Amino acid sequence: MVSTIFSYFFENSTKPQTVGIETLIKQINNEEVSEIIISGNNILTTLKDSTREKTLKESNESFSTLLSNYNVDPAKATAIKISVKEDTAWDYFLINILPFLLPFILVGFFLFFMMRGVSGANSKAMSFGQAAAKDVKLDKKNRTTFKDVAGAKEAKEELKEIVEFLKFPKKFHDLGAKIPRGVLLLGAPGTGKTLLARSVSGEAQVPFFHMSGSEFVEMFVGVGASRVRSLFEKAKKNSPCIIFIDEIDAVGRRRGSGLGGSHDEREQTLNQILVEMDGFEPTQNVIVIAATNRPDVLDPALLRPGRFDRRVIIDLPDLQDREDILHVHARQKPLAKEVDLKKIAQRTAGFSGADLANILNEAAILAARENRKEIINEDLFEAIEKVMIGPERKNRIITEKEKKITAYHEAGHALVSHFLPNTDPVHKVSIISRGAAGGYTLQAASEDKHFHPKSEFISDLAVLLAGHLTEKTIFGEVTTGATSDLRRATALARSLVTDYGMSDNLGPRTYGEKEEMIFLGREIHEQRDYSEKVAEKIDEEIANFIKQGEQKAQAIIDGQRDKLELIANTLLEKETIEKEEFEEMMGPKPQA
Ligand code: ADP
Ligand code: MG
Ligand code: ZN
Repeated sequence: MVSTIFSYFFENSTKPQTVGIETLIKQINNEEVSEIIISGNNILTTLKDSTREKTLKESNESFSTLLSNYNVDPAKATAIKISVKEDTAWDYFLINILPFLLPFILVGFFLFFMMRGVSGANSKAMSFGQAAAKDVKLDKKNRTTFKDVAGAKEAKEELKEIVEFLKFPKKFHDLGAKIPRGVLLLGAPGTGKTLLARSVSGEAQVPFFHMSGSEFVEMFVGVGASRVRSLFEKAKKNSPCIIFIDEIDAVGRRRGSGLGGSHDEREQTLNQILVEMDGFEPTQNVIVIAATNRPDVLDPALLRPGRFDRRVIIDLPDLQDREDILHVHARQKPLAKEVDLKKIAQRTAGFSGADLANILNEAAILAARENRKEIINEDLFEAIEKVMIGPERKNRIITEKEKKITAYHEAGHALVSHFLPNTDPVHKVSIISRGAAGGYTLQAASEDKHFHPKSEFISDLAVLLAGHLTEKTIFGEVTTGATSDLRRATALARSLVTDYGMSDNLGPRTYGEKEEMIFLGREIHEQRDYSEKVAEKIDEEIANFIKQGEQKAQAIIDGQRDKLELIANTLLEKETIEKEEFEEMMGPKPQA
């Protein structure tokens, strides 16, 4: 295109005009021609007035024969300067060979680029084996430190030691102490394992290689193992440093179990990790921190001394820890004066650090939506319920009849819960639908509990069944609204029998070995270690526990009918009853 445009504008002016042979002969006869250049079949003529012309002749006829054929006076011809220009090799090439060659050249280019693309992909495949570890650069200003982790005192205590090792390795070497190679952080999801690992590297100010267990395993077989190798290689070069393998259960599962093809790859990866951890020289100052929430599925070889010999267990935060975590996350958020984070901590028994962070965030969003400048108590309470049960669904249309059923159902839960001595106090009863629930009764433990006696479980069963029983008592029939209550009650009763050994008839033993098998996703497979006969007994015992709960609940529903009506009617009128009001209506809760 460029050459076309170029020749159009530029050459047009100087381009010789093409004329016929007879014109040329006439011009020669008139002695107008000063010079003629013959180049192949082209006759280029320059006239005396220096205009240029071009004439074509037949290819097999020479210029001299042409002149004689047209009877040109030889004297006139000799007066003209005639020169013959031979076709250069280049011209010949362009005209004769290029047309044949061009397709080949094009195909060649095409192939070349294709090969380049392929080899690019190839070299990518080769670098697959390289660890994609995120090397967290030491950011002196924004580094995570132990200050960012609230609570988890024991875990921090243990990890402070690791920081010491990394900072002053000589102190320990001089005394002949071996630096631990691996630390395993165990804890429920969201308890701050990743955060703690980060804070260790921040405190020690050493590089931090972060890789998650699932990143080792990819499409190609053998990638995992080679990634492990390259990760450790990288780490050794950067020592002292920390390798952090998050969610190690993805590769560290007990070997030799499970179905499907991927576990071979996992085993190789795990083997490589074991080999690498053994291969450290004690002076290399590389510490491997791994985190998991499934210690039960880990391969025992990972846990033996010399590998992850330190195990740090991170519990769900207790009351004080929850308050501290809330304070950490409230740093950047303007809270109203009335807000007492202790109260929030009390309402959030069993919440993890991540849940608490989420609550503050949700509360901030709620406050912003209402165009407030501060977060108030209501935002926080609303956020707790949103995180616990799901978002409020005020616009869900329910009939009067459904509303009435829900009111009695929830009143039943609340009533039974209140009049049983060993249950958690009722915090709130509501018939506003939230998430999947039509209504809800919130109970919150006033203190953290670690052990649960059997009587408490029976009471829990009673509370779970209360909704269903109340519906039956008041309306004479039951609805589908109690489905999830029943499911939970059945699961709880089953656990009492098969896991906790709380059935008197079946004795103190567990039934069934739970084994997790990965096959087409996640699946818990229960291995039966009991006979058919016992299976029948287990079912009987489960029914038995349910019956006990039912009787307890029914007694309260029948005995406190007026209170039940009171709660239900209040709910129908106000939709929600808060703790204080509820306790005023019910009187004191019987003590255990
Ligand atoms: P996991 O144990 O699942 O790895 P993370 O470490 O990723 O959990 O924690 C998720 C988030 O929860 C953190 O980013 C942090 O905001 C919050 N969090 C958890 N525990 C704490 C804690 N003890 N102190 C402060 N924040 C915490
Ligand atoms: Mg994590
Ligand atoms: Zn219910």
